[in-house]
Order: sequence, then C-alpha cells, then structure tokens
Amino acid sequence: MLRVAIQSKGRLYEETMCLLREAGIKVNEGKRILLIPADGFPIELLFLRDDDIPQSVADGIADAGIVGENEYVEKGRKARLVKRLGFSRCRLSLAIPKNEDYQGLSWFEGKKIATSYPVILSEYLRERGVRADLHVISGSVEIAPGIGLADAIFDIVSSGSTLVSNRLKEVQTVLPSEALLLAGHVLTPDKEAVLNELLFRIESVQRAQGKKYVLLNAPKEKLTEITRLLPGVKSPTVTPLADGNWFSVQSVITDKEFWAIVGQLKKLGAEGILVLPIEKMIP
Ligand code: AMP
Repeated sequence: MLRVAIQSKGRLYEETMCLLREAGIKVNEGKRILLIPADGFPIELLFLRDDDIPQSVADGIADAGIVGENEYVEKGRKARLVKRLGFSRCRLSLAIPKNEDYQGLSWFEGKKIATSYPVILSEYLRERGVRADLHVISGSVEIAPGIGLADAIFDIVSSGSTLVSNRLKEVQTVLPSEALLLAGHVLTPDKEAVLNELLFRIESVQRAQGKKYVLLNAPKEKLTEITRLLPGVKSPTVTPLADGNWFSVQSVITDKEFWAIVGQLKKLGAEGILVLPIEKMIP
C-alpha cells in the first residue's frame, strides 16, 4: 500500500482529486477522515495541510505526496521530485502598495515584508544584497500593508486579483510554482512499483489533455492533401468507405491545431467532421 499525502482542502485538493479520479483512483470522499484507502488500487490518501506535506514525505510518514513547488522549496527540497504535474500554477512574488514608485529591488532595503515563505525570500534577498525585515505570518498576508503591519508582501499570486483588491502591485516574481509529485528517496520495491503505476496513469491522462480525436470523410482526389494536414500520433488512419470515391480519415490533434486547420479541411472538401474528447493516451 502506497501512502500518498495530499492537501486536505483548497485549490490543490480539488485539482489533485480530479487528476486521481481521471487516473482511476477513487476514494469515498464522503468520509472526511485523515486516511482513506482507494478502491481497487493499492494506494491510501493521507489528507494534510499543504505545508506539512514535504516534510511528511521526507520523514517517511507518507511514501509520496502531491504539493505545490512553493512548499517543496520552502521546506528545503528534502523529498525526491518525481514529476512536475503542470497544474495549480502560480508564482511567489513581491508586491508593494500600488501608489509606490518602484525602481528596483533596492526599494525593499530596510523595509518590512510580510510573508509565509521566509526561507525562499531571505535567500533571494541575501543573494542580491538587500537587507529587509521579514515578518512571518501564516495567512491573509495580502492585508498586512493595509493595516500597517508591513510595507510590502511576498506571497502566492495566481490571477493577481487578490493583489488588486488590496491595492497592491506585483513588482518581482521570485519563484514560478506548479504541483509536484514527490516521493521518499528509498521506497520498498513494492511501493516503488505502485508509484510507477501511478506515474504511468497520470502521464496517460496528461498526454490526452488538450488533444482531440478527429474523424472526417475525405474525397479520394484530396486524400493526400487532407492527410498531410492531420499528422496523428504516428500517421492518420485511412479507411475506404463503401462509396469508392470517399475515405474515412481518423487522427489525433491538439485543440489549437484543429481550429487552425478546420477551414483548410473544409476547403479541401472534407465532410462530416467529428471532434471527440480523448480520456487517456498510452504510447
Ligand atoms: P489570485 O487572486 O488569483 O492572484 O490568487 C491569490 C491567492 O490565491 C493567494 O493568496 C493564495 O492564497 C491562493 N492561491 C492561488 N494560487 C494558488 C496555488 N496554486 N496554490 C495555493 N494557493 C493558491
């Protein structure tokens, strides 16, 4: 049984559960208890606060974990980084009151900065020779300048709307972040095998993301030109229809590519174009 630590609530929780569900790993979420075994797969989920996840994986309390890079770096990168998962993207940034004139990092010299990420920030400022006073708070960092607790903040930014509503502006990105799959450095062979199966399933789901299965009918005389537009995974599948002048063409394409070529396909006489979602792709 592989014990995987995930965030107990919040953005990362939602997106992680969605990925695991698509990977066929389902738990009974009705029972909101700390440790829940998955149905039909040798994994149990351990629900923790995100800032506890890197250490619990490094200490072997959990065998693996899914957590934001922000927490992984803040806690000293002790666990093994197995895979960047590409979701829950955000950045750790410095932000200051919006009316301040900002010319560069020297603005922060001698200033008080509120943050929940003192390790990342102090290293960043030290490397650049800036001395500032860090004020560590664990939540609602963005309100600190407004209530006179600090001159600036260093916090997670995603859309930036939290900064705007607190009359702040982002002046320096320090660390881009995304969800990571972590694991202990040494797992038993059985656990390593389950981790590899989990990774295989995640990759199969992610490979299919943004891709569509396209089916269309192509007139015989334009078949070469149409298949040239649809490269597919290896090459498109081409099957003759009962009417010998037409062929069915099937291929895999990204959403973006599809909208770029649909006009050309129609101009070449393609008909009956169907675009279907793909759940998983296994190479
Ligand atoms: P936003 O208003 O979209 O810039 O979001 C800012 C707030 O949302 C931050 O203060 C964080 O608390 C939270 N947040 C945004 N993205 C993430 C993420 N990927 N992981 C954890 N918290 C996040």
